[in-house]
Amino acid sequence: MIEMKVELTSSEATIELGKLVAKQLNAGDVVVLDGDLGAGKTTFTKGLALGLGIHTVIKSPTFTIIREYQEGRLPLYHMDVYRLENGGGSDLGLEEYFDSDGVSVVEWAQFIADELPVDYLAIKFERTDNDDTRILSFEAHGEHFKHLILELSKHNG
Ligand code: ADP
Ligand code: MG
Repeated sequence: MIEMKVELTSSEATIELGKLVAKQLNAGDVVVLDGDLGAGKTTFTKGLALGLGIHTVIKSPTFTIIREYQEGRLPLYHMDVYRLENGGGSDLGLEEYFDSDGVSVVEWAQFIADELPVDYLAIKFERTDNDDTRILSFEAHGEHFKHLILELSKHNG
């Protein structure tokens, strides 16, 4: 398994990394974000959106579950499946997003683990003792994202 860990000392740094990741994404890519409330999942998604050329303000889709942004290089499907904590993920038709012309980003993906495709990029967000520092761990599931992690690790030493 190819993995990469990075320490980010500000929300701006997390946004910058999101932008960098966006440059490497293609249609049909699935990125899943796990970590506690306030860990930085939506902040990272804001960077990702900017990197795709989306300038609409990204709002957490906690109550809508899915928000779509069509103005960028690729469509962005931003999902927050926290409300599916007790199941229901199989009724959403998530495969149609995962297998689409756009990039799917899923917050709280642990709640829809059974619905995930073979290839996805997983990013785990952890808080630290410092309020503004987060540890992000990147993991490639399947072959497709190994290359992306290798490219990113060049940027991050
Ligand atoms: P989540 O979506 O995981 O619940 P958010 O991105 O909505 O988390 O919130 C993260 C909060 O933590 C924001 O208020 C953000 O400004 C703050 N923060 C502080 N440092 C960082 C960092 N290094 N990376 C991401 N967010 C940070
Ligand atoms: Mg969030």
